[in-house]
Amino acid sequence: MSYSYEAPVSQALFDRASIVTPGGVNSPVRAFRAVGGTPRFMVSGDGPYLTDADGRDYVDLVCSWGPMILGHARPEVIEAVQAAVARGTSFGTPGEGEVALAEEIVARVAPVEQVRLVSSGTEATMSAIRLARGFTGRAKIVKFAGCYHGHVDALLAAAGSGVATFGLPDTPGVTGAQAGDTVVLPYNDLAAVREAFAVHPGEIACVITEASPGNMGVVPPRDGFNAGLKELCAANGALYISDEVMTGFRTSKAGWYGIDGVAPDLMTFGKVMGGGFPAAAFGGRADVMAHLAPAGPVYQAGTLSGNPVATAAGLAQLRLLDDAAYAKVDAVSAEIRALVTDALRKEGVAHRVQTAGNMFSVFFTADEVRDYEDAKRQEAFRYTGFFHSMLAAGVYLPPSAFESWFVSTAHDDRAVERVAAALPAAARAAAEATGTGVSA
Ligand code: PLP
Repeated sequence: MSYSYEAPVSQALFDRASIVTPGGVNSPVRAFRAVGGTPRFMVSGDGPYLTDADGRDYVDLVCSWGPMILGHARPEVIEAVQAAVARGTSFGTPGEGEVALAEEIVARVAPVEQVRLVSSGTEATMSAIRLARGFTGRAKIVKFAGCYHGHVDALLAAAGSGVATFGLPDTPGVTGAQAGDTVVLPYNDLAAVREAFAVHPGEIACVITEASPGNMGVVPPRDGFNAGLKELCAANGALYISDEVMTGFRTSKAGWYGIDGVAPDLMTFGKVMGGGFPAAAFGGRADVMAHLAPAGPVYQAGTLSGNPVATAAGLAQLRLLDDAAYAKVDAVSAEIRALVTDALRKEGVAHRVQTAGNMFSVFFTADEVRDYEDAKRQEAFRYTGFFHSMLAAGVYLPPSAFESWFVSTAHDDRAVERVAAALPAAARAAAEATGTGVSA
């Protein structure tokens, strides 16, 4: 398709970037490959808005893929960061900020008795899996197709079907040995998990799942799925790891755990808890965490772990996230979901808006999406026209039909009105789109 508006400064930056950086970006989905066109290079953010290098502003419905739950440049967070920066940026020693952030996490999320800070969600899931293997003395791990846990080698296996199928690496560079102990199962399928434990008795160290998946679009767990995972893990001596990097401190004060109340053995966090800085964590049962160095034998470390600027940002953001803040985010999410549904219905576009707390995404299919195979059956080609129409009207959506949308406390009436004004034309573009197949 052709794009009826131009972004010459972003284009020039993208051209420069493409010379020195593979694909011109530092994280693949930013490159707009799923939707085409020129990725927008952003220069500033303010509340619900982003401004690009061409001087156009957008209502931001990505929020840095989740972290910016208070909107951009929230004054209290910026002040905390400025105060921390003025004291120095990294000491390589313990500091009070990391203690306070750990205390805040432990206070909010009951199953977390102890927590270790790291710098990215990838590091958190990688470390949690190492700890689970070290604690249980077992090698195999179970993950679900369509769940993303960062670019950990063993977790980049999503291929394969059937319970006994070992994960096949789905990127060059991940060897069969690295992925060979990963069992990949269909999401929301407890029978498959039960069978995996039967096929591999005494071999499975842990089951890792997104607390409520947002990386194949939003596909919430069916009633009883997480509780069933916990039960099966307990019955088989494996650990239940809930990845709350995306949902943590976003879907409620205590993340998805605050919604379903199923207590995992280990949990992983990132995004919101870093306030827009690289901070992440994993934590859980004290007897399991006691196996981590220097208390125990499982090694894990990081030069910038618990960085004073990142912890100051995360702590400032978490302290502002009270019940009123979550009520506001939930309300904005409901408002935008209703607007999207209304616009697509008026144009007769088959779709489902799926929701998990205040996270949601739009699938171009009439059928419920329960797992990755369902998600891939949607008419993703409709998203391209929809996305670009919204972009042209000043609304920044995830540049892929397989991602969650995110809102913040800063999305006020004016921002929502812009979304509402943009939707009719975008829905028409989705209705008029032609294409076949999927582009997961
Ligand atoms: N786990 C989940 C559920 C995620 O959504 C992500 C990132 O999107 C990660 C882990 C990896 O986090 P990071 O990108 O900080 O490494």
